[in-house]
Amino acid sequence: MDGLLTFMGTGTSMGVPTLGCDCAVCTSDDPRDRRLRPSVLLTWRDPDPDGRERFVVIDTGPDFREQALRSRLKRIDAIFYTHSHADHILGLDDLRPLSFTAFRESGPIPLYASPETTEVLERIYDYTFSPHATYPNRARVRLEPLEERTTVHGVDFIRIPLLHGNMKIFGFRFGRTAYLTDVSAIPESSFALLEGLDNLIISALRYEPHPSHATVKQALGWSRRMGARQTWFTHIAHELGHEATNRTLPEGVQLSYDGLSFPVNLDNVSLNHAAPLSALAHCATPPPVNS
Ligand SMILES: [Zn+2]
Ligand SMILES: [Zn+2]
Repeated sequence: MDGLLTFMGTGTSMGVPTLGCDCAVCTSDDPRDRRLRPSVLLTWRDPDPDGRERFVVIDTGPDFREQALRSRLKRIDAIFYTHSHADHILGLDDLRPLSFTAFRESGPIPLYASPETTEVLERIYDYTFSPHATYPNRARVRLEPLEERTTVHGVDFIRIPLLHGNMKIFGFRFGRTAYLTDVSAIPESSFALLEGLDNLIISALRYEPHPSHATVKQALGWSRRMGARQTWFTHIAHELGHEATNRTLPEGVQLSYDGLSFPVNLDNVSLNHAAPLSALAHCATPPPVNS
């Protein structure tokens, strides 16, 4: 199944331009140097007979409203959350108008989140999630546990455990694409979930080390190890100008930018060997047993 991935935001937590900064990147005329807070949108045609277009967003940061307008987003079928930091969750309330439409059609929009993220969302958005909430215009959304694999209208989202400083967070794999943001370390066991990628989207903050974000060098190392056909950097700080940085990156690695979009293969993969199920079809009949 084919889908389309769109970067809604590719900036670090402060966004680029960064407030109060006059550096070359923050004052650049290149639109690719303007980065909203990190998020991606995935769309595909539902394999069900109704064949509707489906829309899934990963993270709703403080720029979500602007990003949804730019992407002309009219519906959302599900949201996945990577973790509970402000730059990934503070747009949740702007889901309201889209959630009213979704609610009339199919009920509240599911928000898939880890226990840690759920706890923070319930605290910040008490007026939305509390069983005693009475605010009439609250978002029609429901928190759902983030399992190892979550299927949304035919597409599996596999959670990928990652470390962000000392915080345990999640990336996601869908088909042959993975989205790993805010990563500073990748547990060894997660690499098995990241084999056979066409597209690796991974955060690379800047060149200088940071306690909870990967540098360009670290991200390049992981990219080489995973051997994805194409690697896209995201969650980018103002130290990295788009054009100048891209010139220094090896073939198959590029900075992403807001609005960039490309087709992705969404055929579901098996967790154990991360091979596309379609590639296993020819093994469906067991070979004859020699006695
Ligand atoms: Zn972040
Ligand atoms: Zn973070």
